[in-house]
Formats: sequence, structure tokens, C-alpha cells
Amino acid sequence: MKLLVMGPPGAGKGSQARRLVKDYQLTNISTGEMFRQSANRGEELGKKAMEFINDGNLVSDEITNEIVRRRLFEEGDNQDFLLDGYPRTVSQAKALDNMLKEMNSRLDAVVNIVVDKDIILERMVGRRVCKNCGYTYHVRYQPPKTQGTCDQCGGELYQREDDKLDSVRNRLRIYEEKTKPIIDYYKGRGMLININGMQSFDAVYRDINKALRDVT
Ligand code: ADP
Ligand code: ADP
Ligand code: ZN
Repeated sequence: MKLLVMGPPGAGKGSQARRLVKDYQLTNISTGEMFRQSANRGEELGKKAMEFINDGNLVSDEITNEIVRRRLFEEGDNQDFLLDGYPRTVSQAKALDNMLKEMNSRLDAVVNIVVDKDIILERMVGRRVCKNCGYTYHVRYQPPKTQGTCDQCGGELYQREDDKLDSVRNRLRIYEEKTKPIIDYYKGRGMLININGMQSFDAVYRDINKALRDVT
């Protein structure tokens, strides 16, 4: 299955994606995670990307399309994957279409997680991420067993620079302006599945699974 998970920042894409990739055996392609890992490794690309990311701005379409292209072609034609956080602009959606066409492939479904703004804000400012493995927690809704420490790997948890309030506001504005139009792009192709993200982790996951049963 070739799946795209979209939704505003903080909607729960990453949290749902990590269960989906396990259960459906998909390669997880998260552009945000790729940028953060590249920066952690001290690479030029990652460092440059973080200048945009920390203020809540998008990385350029050119750079983003290129890292996705490399990753997709690396995986090969028949690889099943889940894209999380890409595409984020109509221009990226078109670039993705072209890549898939080149691979004689296409998306099976686009899962759109719908969450209201006040809930998004609460989720984002309470999010904590493992410095080492990238696993995501929430101070209230998904606290680690030991405060400040990752359950998975013992790594240190931190608050992303772009999860601070000023960046969050900018990201929501950019989402409305640049990313939301993609919803219509996929709706027009009959691929869109809207999921109510304002429920427990398990309930959201259950609804996604139910919807995917009709696709596969
Ligand atoms: P979130 O989980 O809040 O949706 P991500 O981890 O997916 O955030 O992305 C973090 C940041 O990385 C984005 O705010 C943006 O700056 C950058 N980024 C990620 N994916 C893309 C993309 N497809 N195009 C441009 N920038 C991106
Ligand atoms: P995204 O990848 O869309 O930015 P995340 O999966 O990182 O979103 O979730 C954002 C924050 O909200 C995280 O701290 C996560 O633990 C929390 N969260 C995600 N889904 C839910 C949910 N259904 N209920 C409560 N908190 C959630
Ligand atoms: Zn960890």
C-alpha cells in the first residue's frame, strides 16, 4: 500500500504513522524527521533546512522534492510506503505525481486527519521529542514513564524549537495558505479520506483502519 497521511501540524500524523508502518509494513518517509536527522548528523542540508524550520517556515520545494525523490528511488518501484508531512504545497503534490508516474505507481489513499485549532495548539506546545530516536511524547496525553527520558531508548527528551508558540502560529498560517489547498487537489481525484483526529489515539487509529479496509 502506498499511503499519504496529511493534516495540520500537531494533528497526530506522526503518532498514527508509527503504528501504520508497523502494522502494514510500510517504509516511513517523514520529511520533517529526515531534516531533523540530517541536522543532528551535522550535515549541511539539515543545518540549512533548520534555519527555515525553527522559525516555522517551509523548506523550499526544490530541496524537499529532491530528498523525497532520492528516497523513493532508493526504495525501488514496488516498495510500499507511508508519506508523512509530504507533500505540503500543491507544487510538491504535482512533483510527487510525476515521480510516481515515472515509477509506474500511484497512491492508494490519502488520509487527512482533521483537528481544530485550539486542540492543535495544546498538542504542539505539549509535544516532546527524543533527541536520539525521534519518538514523540506529550507531557499530558502521552507522558514517558520517567520524565524527560525516552521509554524506547533512554534518550533525552526536548521541546522542538518550532513547537514554541511564535513558530507554531506561523506554521498554522502557512498550513492554511500553502498546504490546505492540497486537500482539494486529492479530493478532486477521489482519494481523500477524512478522519476525525479529535479523539483518543486508539479511536483515531481504529477509524483509519476501518477506512483503509475499503481501499485495500
Ligand atoms: P509536524 O509534525 O508539526 O507536522 P514535521 O516534523 O512534519 O512537522 O515538519 C517540521 C518542519 O519541517 C515543517 O514545519 C517544515 O518547516 C519542514 N518540512 C517538513 N516537511 C516539509 C515539506 N514537505 N515541505 C517543506 N518543508 C517541510
Ligand atoms: P504531527 O506529526 O501531525 O505533527 P504528532 O503525532 O507529533 O503530530 O502529535 C502531536 C502531539 O500531540 C504529540 O505530542 C502527540 O503525543 C500528541 N497527540 C497526537 N495524537 C493525539 C491524540 N489522539 N490525543 C492526544 N494527544 C495526541
Ligand atoms: Zn528515544
